[in-house]
Amino acid sequence: MENKVRVRFAPSPTGGLHLGGVRTVLYNYLFAKKLGGDFILRIEDTDQSRFVPGAEGYIFECLKWCGIEPDESAIHGGDYGPYRQSERKRSYLGYAEKLVENGYAYYAFDTPEELEAMRQDLRTADNPAPQYDQTVRGRMRNSISLPADETKTMLLKNTPHVIRIKLPDDEIISFQDMIRGEVHFNTGTIDDKVLLKADGMPTYHLAVVVDDFLMKITHAFRGEEWLPSSPVHVLLWRYLFGEKNMPQWAHLPLIMGPSGKLSKRDGAKYGFPVFAMNWTDPATNELTEGFKEKGFLPEAFLNMLAMLGWNDGTEQEVFSITDLIQKFSIERVHKAGAKFDYEKAKWFNHEWIKGFNAEDLRLKVKNVLEDRGLEVDDTILLDKVINLVKDRCTLLTDFYDQAYFFFRSPATLDIAAVRPKWTMEKKEFFISLCQEFEALAEWESAFIESAFKTIATEKNIKPGELQLPFRIMLVGGKFGPPVFDIAGLIGKQETIHRIMNSLEQF
Ligand code: GLU
Repeated sequence: MENKVRVRFAPSPTGGLHLGGVRTVLYNYLFAKKLGGDFILRIEDTDQSRFVPGAEGYIFECLKWCGIEPDESAIHGGDYGPYRQSERKRSYLGYAEKLVENGYAYYAFDTPEELEAMRQDLRTADNPAPQYDQTVRGRMRNSISLPADETKTMLLKNTPHVIRIKLPDDEIISFQDMIRGEVHFNTGTIDDKVLLKADGMPTYHLAVVVDDFLMKITHAFRGEEWLPSSPVHVLLWRYLFGEKNMPQWAHLPLIMGPSGKLSKRDGAKYGFPVFAMNWTDPATNELTEGFKEKGFLPEAFLNMLAMLGWNDGTEQEVFSITDLIQKFSIERVHKAGAKFDYEKAKWFNHEWIKGFNAEDLRLKVKNVLEDRGLEVDDTILLDKVINLVKDRCTLLTDFYDQAYFFFRSPATLDIAAVRPKWTMEKKEFFISLCQEFEALAEWESAFIESAFKTIATEKNIKPGELQLPFRIMLVGGKFGPPVFDIAGLIGKQETIHRIMNSLEQF
């Protein structure tokens, strides 16, 4: 199909996947799916010095967890591969050379020492980071400043060099951003960015343009941090493929943390996850916790991200991915930075946990409980437990604290909460209660409750005064769902056993 929408997420595999990255994935995906388009994942790994083993596989794992599968990628295949830029190395050189031939780029032979000397020389209080630009290029060693035959000889001798774009001196570059409207830049303020590095690899600037062209990308969503480079990309489109073929750009607003742009360090500082999934830096072995392992449902995580910078214009906040595909519109994406609020993220998770039925949650809760050493073989029991406690769980990991006592007797009892009001009469009540329980033909919370109340009346004790000790006997503390429901689920013998065991300790 000629005009099929094609979008891409183009991560550099250099570490954990930041929630801002997942939001970029999501907006790409929603936009494409709404219009029946394709979502492509392209790995931008041309910076060999930043190669991190495992980072690429981790990105795929994160997308899988989110339930967002690319239509085309290095592992899904597709007609526009390879989908790793390092494997596309050969395609870039020709474009870079074509730019040089047409006078839009030049060879630069400056050594790192020469570049440093230039910076030192030109550094002033007003210009703390001098750049390689129109004011500087004439004094450096490049194919503009050197005689043509010298350039030729140096190239023949394989003198290490890069290719730089030659920016126009003073030109206004403008384009229509889908979120920001028309944006303008003056080329006079921008440096002659490197397009091809000495190792023959393209930089991001050249690769993004060439690949978006070759992969027939129609719309490109990326973080706002790329906005300042966009005029360079517009020029490359103009010089190589024609500006009218350029994808439509959308620069997504920054995600703000408690103090400025949300960073991985904020996570450690304020105790919330920033990455989608756990990430261990292979160089330092440092583990950064992810939303998944923290106990988030992918549905809630995506829902929260969708709302970080977008809403549908109503008060509705909980959306499934299907709703989002239907309702998403780029016109409603905000220009201003979106503030990440961890409490709100948890609120979304709680809403999703409450909204799911036991079957939806079964496997995830089983994993949480089994990871903490519980044996959970009885699915019928597990489903009942989930239904009983899910409203009390904000994170999936909360299921352990809220439910472990259904699978194991509590390790400690909050005896201090019982002792001050503990009496011989109460002890006798529980002994009689056990006898009554033994005789019960049907073990269900309604019958348990009625037996409990009957004996309490017989013994002339208010049932309310007996329920707290009963709860502590069964769960160890002052929490949990209705106590007769708990007794009903843990079973008659286990209930009697926990009562008798506690009586010794009270
Ligand atoms: N590789 C760039 C990044 O990781 C991609 C930017 C883009 O989507 O064009 O931020």
